[in-house]
Amino acid sequence: MRVLEKIKNKDLINKDLIYSFLNNLLFNKITRKLLIALLEKLVISYLKPGKKNKFSSTNTKVQHEKKLIALSIINSVKRAIEGNALSKEVSKVVLKLWAGAIITNRAKDKIINNFYEKNGTEPPFFLVISPGHECNLHCQDCYAASESRGHKLSWEILDKLITDAKKAWGIKLIVFSGGEPFLYKSNGKDILDIALKHNDLLFLAFTNGTIINSEILKKIRLSKNLTPALSVEGMEKTTDNRRGIGVFSKVVSSLENLKIQGVPAGISVTVNRNNYNEVLSDEFLDFFFIKQKIFYAFYFQYLPMGRNADFSLMPTPYQRLEFRKKLLDIIEKRRLFILDFWNHGTLVNGCIAAGRSGGYLHIDWNGNVMPCVFIPYSSGNILEIYENGGNITDIWENPYLVSIRKWQKNHGYGKEYSKSNKLGNLLIPCPYRDHYSDFLNIIEKNKAIPQDVSADELLKDLNFRKNMLEYEKELAEIFNKEWNENFLRISNKLRNSNK
Ligand code: SF4
Repeated sequence: MRVLEKIKNKDLINKDLIYSFLNNLLFNKITRKLLIALLEKLVISYLKPGKKNKFSSTNTKVQHEKKLIALSIINSVKRAIEGNALSKEVSKVVLKLWAGAIITNRAKDKIINNFYEKNGTEPPFFLVISPGHECNLHCQDCYAASESRGHKLSWEILDKLITDAKKAWGIKLIVFSGGEPFLYKSNGKDILDIALKHNDLLFLAFTNGTIINSEILKKIRLSKNLTPALSVEGMEKTTDNRRGIGVFSKVVSSLENLKIQGVPAGISVTVNRNNYNEVLSDEFLDFFFIKQKIFYAFYFQYLPMGRNADFSLMPTPYQRLEFRKKLLDIIEKRRLFILDFWNHGTLVNGCIAAGRSGGYLHIDWNGNVMPCVFIPYSSGNILEIYENGGNITDIWENPYLVSIRKWQKNHGYGKEYSKSNKLGNLLIPCPYRDHYSDFLNIIEKNKAIPQDVSADELLKDLNFRKNMLEYEKELAEIFNKEWNENFLRISNKLRNSNK
């Protein structure tokens, strides 16, 4: 009886053995083919129109986009293994951590369940921490306005923050941004020491890719749970133009070294009015995905903030729509794993900021807590909270973040957005860049404080305000039409055809 009980409780199933077995199947040529085909079938059936599960959507077109991305991730794994860009040991660790993170559900996770019982919603999935403001580059329009010297969090605070987030929220992923995260050092320790210490978590580091030396490479390989996303702006000329002469070749050399180590790496691209065709070109995609064998690309459409904020670089609403369509076509045809902020609100049910369930919040080098990396306005500081005997839960309960989470519920998140719900348009998910008028009300009501001079100047700049409000209007016209015609109607049509 007791044995049966144990089997029922899965005590006898050693998860490590299962992941090891699956990993072996992936690294065998014949079994890989079968496993990949099986995974693709599972994804297609899991995300079929009408299916209800953790990742599904009641909107058929949204469901379709989720399926395309899931298939592109599977293809990325296959390409990386076949191209010798993913080592078997690293794959085993990543597989275990990602599978654990994805499979987790409330019923099985005590921390998530406790949080839900108390708050009626699940906790955030990850934290973005910018541990230091220092950077070795001086990019023309750096969103973080990084400096050659800068403030940083101490190792103790960084470690405490992550430990507390695991205990209170069951966090699965830490994203490092900056400043240049590989420059961070405190008490002789760096972000890779954190990754090594917290080996039950996944880590992603947004880096300029220019200082990944042999020591850093060795530690990345040793930790196995950190993937770096290296910044480029396009091919060599475009990248060097914004980031400095010689930067592109350093990034490429880092990517080559990471590939040799079998560590999955990706790129991060700021898309603006000048480079938006280049970063969708075959030349660019072939170079990075085929030649450099990157695993993923994150596209962030330029948002004026930080150093030399320039509204005229922001892709127009029409360009944003055009970019969305072209990129989706590429993902469908080439199965490349590319995420497009802000066009992929469809994949994550809208805005993921402010500690939303499944989402995140941002803590910077001064301990300031912000809803998002792209909203440099804060109304709380973790150092002060700790000093006053508070804890990480106080951040989540901050009224500013609460009001953004409330706003999200009226803009797609948790809505039956297949119905004719105008507020559920997941194509324009951002309270800051897409709904600037709402954003102004939120920060005024909550007395959120600009985190730096440039955030303060933007807030006072009436011309910027006028531009953002006009952008919001134009965006709503174009994207509400797109949502109504190509998501709501198509959705009904597809649903009816599936009856
Ligand atoms: S606030 Fe905007 S940029 Fe930040 S997660 Fe939400 S939609 Fe994305």
